[in-house]
Amino acid sequence: MPEGPEIRRAADSLEAAIKDKPLTDVWFAFPHLHSFAPTLVGECVERIETRGKALLTHFSNGMTMYSHNQLYGVWRVVEAGEVTETNRVLRVRLAAKDKAILLYSASDIEILTADELAVHPFLQRVGPDVLDMSLTVEQVKSRLLSPRFCRRQFSGLLLDQAFLAGLGNYLRVEILWHAALAPQHKAIDLNEDQLDTLAQALLDIPRLSYQTRGRVDENHHHGALFRFNVFHRAGQVCERCGGIIEKSTLSSRPFYGCPGCQK
Ligand SMILES: [Zn+2]
Repeated sequence: MPEGPEIRRAADSLEAAIKDKPLTDVWFAFPHLHSFAPTLVGECVERIETRGKALLTHFSNGMTMYSHNQLYGVWRVVEAGEVTETNRVLRVRLAAKDKAILLYSASDIEILTADELAVHPFLQRVGPDVLDMSLTVEQVKSRLLSPRFCRRQFSGLLLDQAFLAGLGNYLRVEILWHAALAPQHKAIDLNEDQLDTLAQALLDIPRLSYQTRGRVDENHHHGALFRFNVFHRAGQVCERCGGIIEKSTLSSRPFYGCPGCQK
């Protein structure tokens, strides 16, 4: 399952293909969207925003396409006129002069005005996205301490998109290892230092993953690279304390942690 960093990177490649270019061809499979197609020709995609697994494609006429890929939707970038070989069902095509972006198989697609976007049920439920670079550590901290979330165990809280969007299972385990916290803890139990460390890790780990995951370390690279310290490392030695990393199941998902230093 892709998590926030992978979804943001996919959105980046869609933006790189289509952003700020006048659309020459717009096509929607669903009849309830047909009437929007001609109104979008000549407009541009100004920005593609991610909110967890939802993508918000903002057009220059103020309209926004909401799409949620669920488990099966997939985006592709193609050259203009390129025919793609696929068994998937095409749902959206947004084409500019040189490139087009295609959405296959997704069933959850809407075109919304700004007012409709503001009251969209999914977007109302989902929290701020960890890859929204305007989200600050202070905001994350006050979210952790809010009455709604402060008594929730981290094992479940860190998978709840209502708390923060974009976190998934590998980020959950890596964040808790970095913060040296056991998954049974709740924000209300933490001291000030632990809270600061956790709030910082909730932003730093996803952002480092977004920026560097999969990148090979080269000697001239001075910044940190994302890598797994505990995820899929059961039975291996913890590099912080020398303990042995254990695998368990928490909130119905595999959990990895070090009982030696995650207190
Ligand atoms: Zn350890």
